[in-house]
This record gives sequence, C-alpha cells and structure tokens, in this order.
Amino acid sequence: MESVPSAEESHQTSTENSQTATTAENSFTSLSITDPSYVPFVTSYSEIQTWRACQRKHHYAFGRKLSSKNKSVPLQIGTIGHALLEVYYKDRDTLGVQQAIHSTKEFFSKEMLENPHDYSQHALIPAYEAAMSFILDDPFKDYKILEVEKLYVTPISSSIDLAMRVDLILESPEGRCILVDHKFVGRPWDTPKLMMATQLDVYAGMLGHNGMVINDKMYNFVYHKTKTHAQESFTYNPAKVNNVLRETDMIAHLIAGRLTNNSIETQSQLSLRSHEQSICGWCPFLDLCYGELTDNPKIVETALGSLGPNEYGYREDTNGN
Ligand code: SF4
Repeated sequence: MESVPSAEESHQTSTENSQTATTAENSFTSLSITDPSYVPFVTSYSEIQTWRACQRKHHYAFGRKLSSKNKSVPLQIGTIGHALLEVYYKDRDTLGVQQAIHSTKEFFSKEMLENPHDYSQHALIPAYEAAMSFILDDPFKDYKILEVEKLYVTPISSSIDLAMRVDLILESPEGRCILVDHKFVGRPWDTPKLMMATQLDVYAGMLGHNGMVINDKMYNFVYHKTKTHAQESFTYNPAKVNNVLRETDMIAHLIAGRLTNNSIETQSQLSLRSHEQSICGWCPFLDLCYGELTDNPKIVETALGSLGPNEYGYREDTNGN
C-alpha cells in the first residue's frame, strides 16, 4: 500500500531530491532544477492508476477531492498492518520491538474509539494477527534492512514529481538489493498477474534515479507468506521498467494538464467513464456517477451525503490495499 505524504513533506523532500537528481540510464531524469521558487506538480502511482482505471473516478478523487466518509475495511487493514510492520522493521534489531508493536496497537485501539468511521475491530484484529504471524516467522530475518517506509519525491520530468512511499528495501545475504511491497489484502497473484503488475517497476525505476540499484522486486502477501513464489516470479526487468516509466510520465502530464487547465465544472462534463463492472463495482463514487450520468439530482444529493472531503490527503490511495 502506498501511504500519502503531506504536502509539506512532499515539497520538502521534493526540493531535496530535485537538488540531488542524478543522470539516469533512461530519459526520465537528469534534471537540474536550480530555481528555489520552483514548485512542481506532484503526483503518485495510485493517482496514475486511478486515472488509468477511470478518468471520471480520478476527477472525483483528485479533482473534486472526494472520498467515502467511511474508510473501507481493506484500507483500514492495510493502514494498520503497514504501521505494525513499519515499527517492527525499524525496531527489529533492538529490544524495543515488543513495546513498539504494543504501542502501535494501542494507538489504533484509541483511534477506533475516537474515529469509528476510520477504524474498527474488523480491521484491527485481522491486521494485528496477520502482522504478528508474519513477524514470528520473519522470512527476511537474515536480510539487512536498508529503508523502511521511506518517502521519495523524485522528478519524473521537468515539471512533474512522483511521490512514493516505499514499504521496505532489503539487502539479501548474497548482496542483492530487494524492493518489497507488503500486501495485506487479497490472495497471492498468479504469474500472469504478477508479470502485469507495474507498481514496483515504477518504484524501482525511480529509485534508480535516486542512485539505488534494485536487483529484485517482491510483492509480499503478508497473510499468505508467499515470499518464495513472489521472489522467483519477480526478477528485475529493465526493459519493462523503462516502458512503464514512459507510460507513467505520459499519464502524469495528461493529469497535470487536466487539473491545471480545466475548471472543475469542465471536468464534470467528462464523459470518459470506465463503465466496467469489475471497476465500477468497487468504486466509492458509483452512486454519484450514476446520478450525474442520469441527471438525477435526488440521487446526486444522497450520494454526496455519503461522501466527504478527502481528508487522508490529496493523493489518497483509492485502491484500498
Ligand atoms: S462508477 Fe465506474 S464509471 Fe463511474 S466513476 Fe466509478 S469507475 Fe468510473
């Protein structure tokens, strides 16, 4: 899951990275931004994916900045699970790990009482059990930890930065650098799905721009402990990485152009909808979309009542994993 950087965090890191961006092997970096007042358009992988799935959905989530008032259980599980693994990997080599995990669990228990729309027992218990089961049998015990939940904001072109929060970077006993993304929701993907997944390709490419060479990419299905399967399926493929980055760059420009050049009213006229059962069925804007599509103010009003401002951040991960 990709967490959302705050605007301040994004721009701070963006400035640091803009100043240190190095020449990359492909055409997506080698940027030298010297103007201190330069503020790039910052996008994220989840925003790109939302655009690819449905431009209408992107308009609701990122143009009008709407989100469901109730945080979905899968999103809650992902948030809590990532937080638990974050404290574990940060404290794994110290005696403080038990206390850190206990404090994190306590934090979410308190959140559950204060913000029942955001967290529930239905998420806290399975997330905690999955994380603990994984931790007790840590498949990466002998690996060196290089980075945990680190935010990178890296130029993808002269005017657009890509923000990404990397779950984990490890170094194997053989000295290979491995990029890991924890998945708390869903079953392990089969090989074709693994081959078509692009998130870690984008991340590996952007890390390459930051000077870190990734040798392997791994989707870590925490519930199912499929480390071996994922590792075998995912070797680093530079051709795929470059092609995926090229497409990401292109879409990021389309998004930046749409959001900066068109008013919200103009965007509301968008007819570009996915109308795919498999996508619409999971869409938090289904009712709103239907109400607007059929010009039914009553449905629109009711739908808007179940939505609120996107308080989790402008680049909210709407995939909920
Ligand atoms: S309901 Fe379907 S068409 Fe409408 S915004 Fe959502 S994904 Fe797009």
